[in-house]
Amino acid sequence: MYELIPLRERSFVFRGPTNVGIYIRGDRATVIDSGATRKDAAALLGTLDAHGWKLETVLNTHYHADHIGGNAYLQEHTGCRCFSPAPFFAQVPLMNAAFLFYAEPPAPLRGETFLAAGSRTEQLTSDLLPDGFSMKSYPGHCYEQYAIRTPDDVLFVGDVLLGYEELQQKTMFYFYSYPQHMDSLDRIEQEHAHVFVPSHGSPVQEVAALTAANRAHFLQMREWILEFCAGDGMSQDELMKAIFDRLHRHLHLALYSLNVCSLHAYLSALIDEHQIIARAKGNMMRFHTI
Ligand SMILES: [Zn+2]
Repeated sequence: MYELIPLRERSFVFRGPTNVGIYIRGDRATVIDSGATRKDAAALLGTLDAHGWKLETVLNTHYHADHIGGNAYLQEHTGCRCFSPAPFFAQVPLMNAAFLFYAEPPAPLRGETFLAAGSRTEQLTSDLLPDGFSMKSYPGHCYEQYAIRTPDDVLFVGDVLLGYEELQQKTMFYFYSYPQHMDSLDRIEQEHAHVFVPSHGSPVQEVAALTAANRAHFLQMREWILEFCAGDGMSQDELMKAIFDRLHRHLHLALYSLNVCSLHAYLSALIDEHQIIARAKGNMMRFHTI
């Protein structure tokens, strides 16, 4: 389930449900993201200990539960400092889960996958990065997200890019803003690095092909929504049914909640572009093309 893979002399990726970057200077480790769960964090710490590496700093690419999930565990066991964009969400992770349900989330959205333990995480800023590190903003997947570059030129891109394995999943991938995410894809494609590491999937050296595969997914989903909204249009739940029927996938509450967020990101962009209008008919809110 877990594997430590060297990427350069000092940079490693700890493969697991969420990839964790590791950079070693002397016997000190900086990690990028902290795993999805306490179990992931315990496995990470076991690997660091086995090599005699002492954890100093956690840098989160963004504040989603599967990236900050190990912050609290690592802090409890090592006293390391944790830094994240929008750290409030790492301090009060219930707000991440509330984002998925617009209210206090029910039990299926309070498992560890959606609800991390709270941690004393501080604001990530470039002047607080360890020597030689740099970061660049790529919002869209969420409100604030950074790609973090190690001194030996490994670029950990968070969820700006999904790996090829991840893209095989039949789903709408979670995101927050269509225009911001598409802009981030355009910009990450212009980057040069020895290797690019998405948080889910294998590292790649050719970023253009992976970016194209990611862009194709979001463009296709946008086309489907426009197709389904033609004529009389559809309600939110009719759209969800049409999309998941076409994906040959059965919905459940957690999948529904995650993907309603993504659907709203598309609808928000299409309403702003004057391609879709939202209108209530018989007290049913319907989205249809103009
Ligand atoms: Zn994420």
